[in-house]
Amino acid sequence: MKKNIRQLDLKNKKVIIRVDFNVPIKEGRIQDDNRIRESLETINYAASKGAKVILMSHLGRVKTEEDKETNTLEPVAFRLSELMDKEIIFVDMTRGKELEETINNMNPGDIVLVENTRFEDLDGKKESGNDPELGAYWASLGDVFVNDAFGTAHRAHASNVGIASHLDSAVGFLMEKELENLLPAMENPERPFTVILGGSKVSDKIGVIENLVNKADHILIGGGMAFTFLKASGLPIGNSLLDEENIEFCKKMLEEHKDKIVLPIDVVCAENTDENTNSRECFINDIKDNEMGLDIGTASIKLFKQHIMDSKTVIWNGPVGMFELDKYANGTIKLCEALVESGCVSIIGGGDTASAAINFGFKEKFTHISTGGGASLELLEGKQLPGIEVIK
Ligand code: AMP
Repeated sequence: MKKNIRQLDLKNKKVIIRVDFNVPIKEGRIQDDNRIRESLETINYAASKGAKVILMSHLGRVKTEEDKETNTLEPVAFRLSELMDKEIIFVDMTRGKELEETINNMNPGDIVLVENTRFEDLDGKKESGNDPELGAYWASLGDVFVNDAFGTAHRAHASNVGIASHLDSAVGFLMEKELENLLPAMENPERPFTVILGGSKVSDKIGVIENLVNKADHILIGGGMAFTFLKASGLPIGNSLLDEENIEFCKKMLEEHKDKIVLPIDVVCAENTDENTNSRECFINDIKDNEMGLDIGTASIKLFKQHIMDSKTVIWNGPVGMFELDKYANGTIKLCEALVESGCVSIIGGGDTASAAINFGFKEKFTHISTGGGASLELLEGKQLPGIEVIK
């Protein structure tokens, strides 16, 4: 177990909290404030314990001076202030005298938000490259460190690994929730244990397949990545997505684990991805040369649902169709419904699957929806995450 925020003495301490405020912003307006809301529990807790709270986060990528204008955290400070009904002191810089003086003048319970940590990337990728001088400098601004940014835990940045290497550190409530849900489900799942994988590319999921194929009872494969498996088993896939380089990998997986890997038996296909183009459902051996599969079909939904209903634990990463278009969202929605109906432990990896599940109204209905796409994928690959490893 990692040290958590409850085990730190926070009173009167300058507490640096690395949060994940990497929210979508268009023309200064936040499109989805879920990540800000998810961080409130830790921030409120620290402030209520008399900490001087110093918040740090990255926002998007910063490669040019112009990126600084679109990627400032100022709108986040406004939103956070609204959500907490409290003043948030925003400092529009990542280092320097003004930042240091603001922090030194803080009272217990005050909250400061530092500007986007990736502004430091303009100067030789200091944040993303975990520059030792930068990590040491940021650490010098605080007394203790709390990492609550699960979404960045798979990256060694100056603002997570760098700071944690210098200060007494702990995980926050959000990070703790992610680990408490994801790790036991993977390492000691109640069986039968089923993994659902979808999304576009096999290459993104090779590590997950290799790690989970020996742990799971079944792996259900949908989405664009299913077609490389189908091609590997000798079926015509028309113009469906193909990850040519990984056909051999899929062949090997199918040979070695043919009883575990479950592929679609029918699909919804069309000649292109235009929403107005006619689509049709067909069996998997009937996709024409000029068609592409864009969702799993009725018989596959039934087959996948049977596996879900028989399972006690399901981990899902990757939508099983092009869910952004209503006409190809059916498979993903039906699997969401099956997960709820089965009453199993249901864990949704972050990224597209999480946004699909939330958009389709399942936010509160699963056991856990991860907030970190890349980070949860790397956990599923069995990797150690540097942002977590650095905490004792
Ligand atoms: P990923 O980022 O690899 O998890 O992939 C998510 C993307 O896969 C989403 O944007 C989906 O639209 C896309 N996707 C899912 N199924 C298909 C499919 N059958 N054909 C093309 N794209 C798909």
